[in-house]
Amino acid sequence: MREIGHFIGGKTVAGTSGRTADVLQPMDGTVQGQVALASAAEVRAAIENAKAAQPEWAAMNPQRRARVLMKFLDLVHAEYDSLAELLAREHGKTIPDAKGDIQRGLEVVEFCIGAPHLMKGEFTDGAGPGIDVYSMRQPLGVVAGITPFNFPAMIPLWKVAPALAVGNAFILKPSERDPGVPMRIAELFIEAGLPEGVLNVVNGDKEAVDAILDDQDVKAVGFVGSTPIAQYIYSRGCANGKRVQCFGGAKNHMIIMPDADMDQAVDALVGAGYGSAGERCMAISVAVPVGQQTADRLVEALAPRVEALKVGPSTDPAADFGPLVTQQALDRVKGYVDLGVEEGAKLVVDGRDFKMQGYENGYYMGGCLFDNVTPDMRIYKEEIFGPVLSVVRAENYEEALRLPSDHEYGNGVAIFTRDGDAARDFSARVQVGMVGVNVPIPVPIAYYTFGGWKGSGFGDLNQHGPDAFRFYTKTKTVTSRWPSGVKDGAEFVIPTMN
Ligand code: NAD
Repeated sequence: MREIGHFIGGKTVAGTSGRTADVLQPMDGTVQGQVALASAAEVRAAIENAKAAQPEWAAMNPQRRARVLMKFLDLVHAEYDSLAELLAREHGKTIPDAKGDIQRGLEVVEFCIGAPHLMKGEFTDGAGPGIDVYSMRQPLGVVAGITPFNFPAMIPLWKVAPALAVGNAFILKPSERDPGVPMRIAELFIEAGLPEGVLNVVNGDKEAVDAILDDQDVKAVGFVGSTPIAQYIYSRGCANGKRVQCFGGAKNHMIIMPDADMDQAVDALVGAGYGSAGERCMAISVAVPVGQQTADRLVEALAPRVEALKVGPSTDPAADFGPLVTQQALDRVKGYVDLGVEEGAKLVVDGRDFKMQGYENGYYMGGCLFDNVTPDMRIYKEEIFGPVLSVVRAENYEEALRLPSDHEYGNGVAIFTRDGDAARDFSARVQVGMVGVNVPIPVPIAYYTFGGWKGSGFGDLNQHGPDAFRFYTKTKTVTSRWPSGVKDGAEFVIPTMN
């Protein structure tokens, strides 16, 4: 049985709160470890460590900090396979998908190696007589990240890499469901040359989160998780005077226009709807075919593909997707499928009774497909976060455009069409933060920014890309004059550049 403590001051330390949570192996339901749940005092100890270590790290020149990130990349590459297996065994996703989780995180680390360039300020020579104005970006001090279970490598790295690159110290509070990879990431950063105390991992639940939110030494909090918790963290963090960005849940639509290549659209829906058992914030959970004929063709082509999906343990290289993360998650998703039937949607493919032979205690279900879902149903309004795809039939393009635009969530959306004009109009008008044109999961690459709108995102700056450098730094602007030697005496009128 593994005991997972915290990572404070450059080393792993045992938890002292007396509270722990089970770390499960979703593919067979066994308990593979116990993770410590930090007390407020343990969180405070981590923050004090970070606070003491930060000034020296910030004083290091940015290229030297970037070299730590470079070395970290090499170290992760050297143990890619074992990290991916650790991730898959705690989360439940397949090993190839776990590798993707790590890779999308590393791409942001690669981007952050450009920190010396990205931190450059502005300069105006001669803004007034003998006056130069320049700005500089400085780190905030100690900052924190609170991350979800579904991308235990990618999302911690999206937070940690830019924050460290600009000279902050970091407190990471990863999901208590799969803490193994975040803990290993912290160890690898130390091996890569990060000074002790600059990156700390505190494992825990609400108690640890509240301690972070209320600590006056934590200057910024980045959160990713479900919308109710995002709202809570945003309001409590802001009320305490912190900089806060929170990314929440999603209900991502994919519009299928009558002229779309149906084979491509079906491939895209199957991968984006059911990959990682639908436990992705950018998973497609609503398909919107435009016109009855498109809808009939789509459902006819989708149903056999959903029936043929191969569900398997995370270690099966042939599996399309693995188990859900916990029994509770499985019960919740199956509950939504029951609800959809009650609400009058047509359950075309029912994966509720799927059992994985030899893994009877794992949290498996097969893919489910609903047709004739309508916007008033709860299975349409709420995030299900499982392998369940709903087809909502739209009569025309305008109705299809309205559905994602009017939805409470606004994370990702996609349109499949061969018509450039329709794609362009859709991209411009849809009220969603990330748009794919014939691309089902439009997660922006590392040097653009990631963020949803409406109930999917709180705060005004996105994750990664240039926004991350704005979020984790504060701007200082200097107006300087070097006197020519003539002293005019005191001035009592506000200075202007006339
Ligand atoms: P979650 O909200 O349950 O947990 C996220 C984090 O918040 C965890 O670290 C958890 O320990 C902490 N937490 C949970 N309850 C808390 C409470 N009452 N008070 C304080 N902290 C609390 O989310 P999850 O189940 O781990 O992740 C899945 C959710 O995350 C989905 O809704 C998914 O859409 C969303 N998500 C969003 C994005 C995005 O970028 N928008 C990305 C990935 C996942």
